[in-house]
Amino acid sequence: MPKRKPSSHQRHISQLEQALQETVERYELVFKATHDILYDLDIQTGTMSWNNELYDRFGYAADEPVNTLEWWVSHIHPDDALGIEKNLYEWFAGNENTWQSEYRFRKSNGEYSYVLDRSFVTRDGNGAPVRIIGSLFDITERRELDRAKDEFISLVSHQLRTPLTIIRVYGEMFAGRLLGPLTKLQAQHIARMTDASVRLIKLVDDILDVSRIELGHYAVHRELANFNQLVQVGLDQVTPLASAKHVSLSFTPDSTCNVVRIDSTIVMQILDNLLVNAIRYTHANKGRVQVACRRQDEELLLSVTDNGIGIPKAEQARIFDRFYRAHNAVNIEEHGTGLGLYLVQVLTKAVGGRIWFDSADGQGTTFYVALPAD
Ligand code: ADP
Repeated sequence: MPKRKPSSHQRHISQLEQALQETVERYELVFKATHDILYDLDIQTGTMSWNNELYDRFGYAADEPVNTLEWWVSHIHPDDALGIEKNLYEWFAGNENTWQSEYRFRKSNGEYSYVLDRSFVTRDGNGAPVRIIGSLFDITERRELDRAKDEFISLVSHQLRTPLTIIRVYGEMFAGRLLGPLTKLQAQHIARMTDASVRLIKLVDDILDVSRIELGHYAVHRELANFNQLVQVGLDQVTPLASAKHVSLSFTPDSTCNVVRIDSTIVMQILDNLLVNAIRYTHANKGRVQVACRRQDEELLLSVTDNGIGIPKAEQARIFDRFYRAHNAVNIEEHGTGLGLYLVQVLTKAVGGRIWFDSADGQGTTFYVALPAD
């Protein structure tokens, strides 16, 4: 008997089934590729389903009773559970549909993995949560790396900075003849030693700051401040450097900057780096550095202008990169780390500001910083 041809309706159904099958396979492959553990929670019934990555990554057997909300909650580290619960209730009560958090999740061998949980909630007509679809991503290695970096930072700050400071202080005491007279040669060598220790301290400080920022350990504290006064303090700090090179410094206070809300420590760090660069990359005896500030709407605009070596066009795109130094800078100033501007840019962004510059080879440079000031 000849086979009956499938009706167009049947053909349509089988095409849909095939498309569905392909979609399911595609998602399974995506989760395999990203190692994401996927869950689907029905809030009304408290039932939960997981994809196979849960078993593969955390070692649970297929008969583990994983399909309840209680199972999930009981596998969160007790020290994290309360915080997560509070966090979830706030999320449910709000009107955001996405949520993410990091916590420790217990594996079948009893050890804990750090997971990044990112989820999406669907709500009913009254905004009450109905279903949560989420994914867990194992971030244990990243956390371990952060911890190692943290330990390294505190090691560097205590073990390296303290002896370096001692070298600098004694060097300065010798140089100031506080410990007796010195021959010319001795004085020269002592000065070199002290200079080198100052550079090392600056390098250690810069590396510490960069690491702190990258680890998210840099808190921003904004408070009312008189920006004109801060600039004056910043200028006073770099005056010895400028005088040694016979570079002039000028600043005209602006009354719109008398009361601004900023993080003074961060702003001083930005200003100091820009001023030191302006002096360093300007020719001795004919250098001029000008600072200006002005309040514009909600922003504080700061500019530091010099008539120095400028930044060659071809190198301008990389000037904020870590460790980058333009070739003309290396010629005029042998020592440098290329970390200062990177730090300035990261700090500016940390306080919600912007930084840019105008420069041409041999024609001087102006750096501009715009910071939220309200
Ligand atoms: P460093 O000064 O230690 O080299 P920075 O990160 O502070 O590191 O600066 C990076 C580079 O940007 C400098 O090496 C120099 O090439 C360039 N640069 C920064 N400020 C100026 C300036 N005022 N004039 C000319 N070049 C500058």
